[in-house]
Amino acid sequence: MTALAACSLRASGNVSEYSVAEMSFSRRSFLLGAGSGLSLLVLAACTQPEPMPTPTASPSPTLTVPRPSSMLRSNWTSDPYFRGSHSFVPVGATPQFRDDLSQPIMGRVFFAGEATSADLPGSVLGAQVSGARAAGELSSTANKGDRIAIIGAGAAGAEAARVLALEGFDVIVIEARDRVGGRIDTRESKSWPLPVELGAWRLNKTVDAVLLSKLATLGVETNTLTGTLLQGAKATATENTVGPKAVDAAVAWAADQTKDVSVADALTGSGAAKGASDANGLVGADLVNQYLSSLATVNGASDSKLSAWYGLSGSPQYDRLVTGGFGTLISEALTGVTTSLSTAVVGISYSDTGVSLQLGTGESLKVARVLVTVPLGVLQKGSIRFDPLLPFAHRTAIAALGMGSVETVWLRYDKPFWSTDAAVWSLVGTGDDLSTWFNLQAVTGETVLVGLVGGDAARRVSKLNDGDLLAAALHALEPFAAH
Ligand SMILES: Cc1cc2nc3c(=O)[nH]c(=O)nc-3n(C[C@H](O)[C@H](O)[C@H](O)COP(=O)(O)OP(=O)(O)OC[C@H]3O[C@@H](n4cnc5c(N)ncnc54)[C@H](O)[C@@H]3O)c2cc1C
Repeated sequence: MTALAACSLRASGNVSEYSVAEMSFSRRSFLLGAGSGLSLLVLAACTQPEPMPTPTASPSPTLTVPRPSSMLRSNWTSDPYFRGSHSFVPVGATPQFRDDLSQPIMGRVFFAGEATSADLPGSVLGAQVSGARAAGELSSTANKGDRIAIIGAGAAGAEAARVLALEGFDVIVIEARDRVGGRIDTRESKSWPLPVELGAWRLNKTVDAVLLSKLATLGVETNTLTGTLLQGAKATATENTVGPKAVDAAVAWAADQTKDVSVADALTGSGAAKGASDANGLVGADLVNQYLSSLATVNGASDSKLSAWYGLSGSPQYDRLVTGGFGTLISEALTGVTTSLSTAVVGISYSDTGVSLQLGTGESLKVARVLVTVPLGVLQKGSIRFDPLLPFAHRTAIAALGMGSVETVWLRYDKPFWSTDAAVWSLVGTGDDLSTWFNLQAVTGETVLVGLVGGDAARRVSKLNDGDLLAAALHALEPFAAH
């Protein structure tokens, strides 16, 4: 007998409450029921397991930075259901590939997810809008009463499920992980004074206005980020104007070239990196690198990989933090929607008469149509077999787009060791991978620091064990310690 965890989600205030019902009916009976169109999942509450604070034993403490009381980290790069943070446009690719990937096949297989969003890729809003777009395509094609499977319970899948369920379709969401949210990963526990966000948590006041207003309606707190501090070997500054100027000049230079190059090559080719002048006692080239590191936390890719033509367009300047539990957005959208957790789809067979899904258990589920919202990295890895193969345009798009890396580490302190009230701290010219930090004391009053790293540096960080990661974090934070 296989226990199947089924879930419904309740939002209470600004806290997502989950409780688990491990129901011990067999997976086979569930699937047989699914095939006969019965409503199967007893929607019980699910409990998100308490995050275990990572032990903080091994690193050697630095002279000035104490060890935190708790640490939580992400590892999206090695997670088999994500294989990275979000998609990017590498050198030689174009945003057109996102449209190619979003095209429905035979009116049976549909695609959504951030990688299919040409306007807002790599974002929660882009994923959500893509879910709404795919729901529109499905509802104009599907027949009343059709059973529609949605693979993936992230922002795209949840939005599509919400819309299609409202329209009266028989919707089932199938999610590989034991939780909903996907790349929104909110952890709540008594060890932390506020919800920890291991995935998305930054927004832009203008671009994400719709999302911010939805979060406000749900009672989810968001806060404005104010104040930056750049810390270099010999000097500090409050703003990096050198880096953005150099990158803008490099991108403008690249636009005049006959073929696409990487942002790194554009910086070299244009001379913009070399010409970057020192400012506030900080070295110009180091300021450019600091800006590139912070861009990598937004795009997921290093400048050596990003297309100078298309890679940076639409990179938002984040100025808000979701501090009241981003996961409520997803749990609210999925309220009342049949959701099967811990159920990985490994194969999709389709024809013009229907779709059969093969699950990780070896069993299958027949549906009229399917919406695929799994991350690009999962499609690139071939973790889901398509039969017949996806059309050539889809396969080309999957291969051409890049899957980036962003990782995050949360540290909780009982009292601050720093004295600045700047919300965003960046290291300039020190060589630390963990060079971007958020000081939540300046945002919410809680003595919590959050490190964010993207691109090649994130891939390196993802390989560190917890002890080495903490040692790297404490080393990076040393310049911010009050002396
Ligand atoms: C560290 C990090 C920081 C980010 N920061 C921001 C930010 O600040 N602001 C912002 O707007 N965006 C940010 N993003 C991007 C944003 O989180 C994503 O663009 C968005 O959440 C993607 O939603 P989605 O529905 O497309 O995919 P997902 O949320 O990834 O949903 C896909 C789901 O499919 C499931 N799945 C995978 N394989 C299978 C399978 N075989 N069978 C069944 N299910 C499967 C996965 O478990 C997942 O739940 C960040 C992402 C990361 C990782």
